[in-house]
Amino acid sequence: MLARIRTAVTTAQRPDDSVRLLAVSKTFPATDIAELYACGQRDFGENYVQELGSKAAELAQLSELRWHFIGPLQSNKTRSVAEIASWVHAVDRLKIAERLSSQRPEHLPPLQVCLQVNVSGEASKSGVAPAEVAALAQAVSTLPRMQLRGLMCIPEATDDSVLLAGQFRQLRTLLEQLNAQGLQLDTLSMGMSADLELAVAEGATMVRIGTALFGRRS
Ligand SMILES: *Cc1c(COP(=O)(O)O)cnc(C)c1O
Repeated sequence: MLARIRTAVTTAQRPDDSVRLLAVSKTFPATDIAELYACGQRDFGENYVQELGSKAAELAQLSELRWHFIGPLQSNKTRSVAEIASWVHAVDRLKIAERLSSQRPEHLPPLQVCLQVNVSGEASKSGVAPAEVAALAQAVSTLPRMQLRGLMCIPEATDDSVLLAGQFRQLRTLLEQLNAQGLQLDTLSMGMSADLELAVAEGATMVRIGTALFGRRS
């Protein structure tokens, strides 16, 4: 997997260390995570609050492990995410951000946050609408105990690489616009097992890879 990312980065003529691998471990057992950790992987992504909690407890001795919560988050489940995760990728409402901010324990570093943007415009997709990203980003950036790092997207489920590339590019353009408005964002969380090359070509800084690392989810 690291070789595949390296090839994508080289092909895109980007610096060697410009893309971070987030290993999406949802539905796979803690033993699989411990195995990858032993190989040097440190960033792991989970989608479900309960699963995050039980795996974090099981793997508490892996002191350098960073949990990323990448699933949709309901407001009544923010507390354990605020207490466990280093990153949250799919914030799309101010209310969720405010809860995470107020529930982030004082003794932990600021929670690292990305806003999920609905780049495909599909009604079924979560994420803030592109036209509303700027207002949400400005509001989130002022909250204590969290640091707004960038944007995340899940593009349309399609094999059409032109369409996909366009949606990734849209996320990058939005990030550039926010930075032109004075924010300092450095993270584009985009690209999964099937489309990481396209995402890297369009500027992804973190790719979220499940299937290609752990195998098919049942
Ligand atoms: C499951 C999931 C992934 C990983 O997808 P794969 O296609 O298995 O690589 C990435 N991002 C999110 C938000 C996910 O839910």
